[in-house]
Amino acid sequence: MFEHGFNIRELYPSIYQIEEYRKVNCTLIKGTEKAILWDMGYGVYNLKKQIEKMIDTPLIVIASHGHPDHTLGCFQFDTIYLSLDDKEIFKESNSAKTRKRIAGQIERRGVFTEEDSKKYIKQKLPEIKEITIGTQINLGNIHAEVIDLKGHTKGSIGLLLKEPKILLTGDAICNDLWLFLPESESIKTNIKSIENTFKLPFDYFIAAHKQELYPKAHIQDILDNLKNLSLENSRELRVLKNYDVYESRVSTPYGDSSILYVEDKLD
Ligand SMILES: [Zn+2]
Repeated sequence: MFEHGFNIRELYPSIYQIEEYRKVNCTLIKGTEKAILWDMGYGVYNLKKQIEKMIDTPLIVIASHGHPDHTLGCFQFDTIYLSLDDKEIFKESNSAKTRKRIAGQIERRGVFTEEDSKKYIKQKLPEIKEITIGTQINLGNIHAEVIDLKGHTKGSIGLLLKEPKILLTGDAICNDLWLFLPESESIKTNIKSIENTFKLPFDYFIAAHKQELYPKAHIQDILDNLKNLSLENSRELRVLKNYDVYESRVSTPYGDSSILYVEDKLD
């Protein structure tokens, strides 16, 4: 694995959004006694070394959900935590087949050599430990709690940071909400999940694919879009293979809120 200048932005004191590759971010929360790495990207570059440069405490690695762009970098770490509701998705994301497909894409973009791809495909998985809703993590000056954010996937979780009052949402609450996937829950479940989350005490949120600190109020914009979903208000997208995907796109003060879904999620 070669060295690489990660694109790092400190969104709030001690909270860093680290862009690894093509808008794929990991979040580092640096407490006085422990740190959390939230997601681990594709693992294209040496993320572990980058993190070690930034902290001098023990590190806990947690996946927001099981998708490849959040977990393929897991091989760089000894242990990672994941909701077991995403165990199957994680397995598929980390299968030799998926790794090969992703390595091929990275190679075509000129980032991997053939040799890098071969190594990448063969990487061994870390120990996977279960993380459950309600888990409290004490980082010293920052206290975190794992919350249920099922929707984008069944095992999607959020991380509520109590002192800076910031919520990490992964892909479960964001401007580009993908709910068309077979593993995505119904629109109803997504609304319930986000409504419950909205009641929690936080002022800002961080979504996985953006280097932004969004105000909590923006969640209401996304919720409104979700609640008003109808085929009449949506356009059919033909760009995504294998799915009949509709998009509902509305403009908000914090960028367009886009929700991609398939018709049967409306039930
Ligand atoms: Zn995802």
